Amino acid sequence: MQIAIASGKGGTGKTTLAVNLAVLLSEMFAGTDRKVLLADTDVEEPNSGLFIRGKLIDEEIKYRLVPEWKEDKCTLCKRCANICEYNALAFLGISVMIFPELCHSCYACSDLCPEDALPMVPHRMGITKRYHLNDNLQFMESRIDIGVEQATPLIEQTRKFIKENYDDTWFTILDAPPGTSCPVMEAVKDADLVVLITEPTPFGFHDLKLAIDTMEELKKKYAVVINKYGIGNDDVLNYCHDKRIPVIGKIPHLMEAARLYSKGKIMIDEIPEIRSEMEKIYKGICQLTEVKA
Ligand code: SF4
Ligand code: SF4
Repeated sequence: MQIAIASGKGGTGKTTLAVNLAVLLSEMFAGTDRKVLLADTDVEEPNSGLFIRGKLIDEEIKYRLVPEWKEDKCTLCKRCANICEYNALAFLGISVMIFPELCHSCYACSDLCPEDALPMVPHRMGITKRYHLNDNLQFMESRIDIGVEQATPLIEQTRKFIKENYDDTWFTILDAPPGTSCPVMEAVKDADLVVLITEPTPFGFHDLKLAIDTMEELKKKYAVVINKYGIGNDDVLNYCHDKRIPVIGKIPHLMEAARLYSKGKIMIDEIPEIRSEMEKIYKGICQLTEVKA
């Protein structure tokens, strides 16, 4: 079972929802064989770790493969000249130049080269760390290296790692990158349900509609949670009602929540209204995914 928490824009409460839901579920699953994995795949700015800490289990440097031009093997046959769709390879007449940041590791040039002059070699892109919090809760985060431009390959490797290493006893909560571009599309690929979190403001509403369009395009099952409920207006609520989009939670706008957030604290421990809203959100998730609560 995997849910992804996404939003059309940053700063809407993705991490708040992901972290508090993960802690709540780990408490609910205590004494059973069910466990929770919280995975932060917002690789450019993972911040779940500011709220949730644990003992390091392992860490792994992540690489992607990029071609390397071997001058001594190249016969300047020009076959690779126009093959790259991403302009990551340029044939310069007397040499071949690779631009690793533009390369999508598609292997086309490497496979095409008759002289093995473009072997794929590993380039470091980031690091993934896993932490143990308690018998029912693990936390994992992937962080891209400074200067690396493409987030998607690291998210793809993180997603595949989860798929291969966590079985059905794990309830995975994935904190996805914000926005509607390739990184979020990659992050939500395996999710049984995408929870879109938004604010009841004109900006929140605008970006929610973009996020909804993306989920429709991807044919993903999704639901909405409204954060900071009480500010702004009812446009989000009315829109979801008209479009029959399930709103599974309304996290109240409370000064105390902002205070705890600024101190990196878990809200369900100190604000009963937020705990009960998280419980409702979990029930909503179970109803939509037909999983027993
Ligand atoms: S296809 Fe291979 S041998 Fe031909 S120009 Fe490109 S790198 Fe050189
Ligand atoms: S591996 Fe693909 S994306 Fe990378 S340089 Fe070669 S053709 Fe371009």
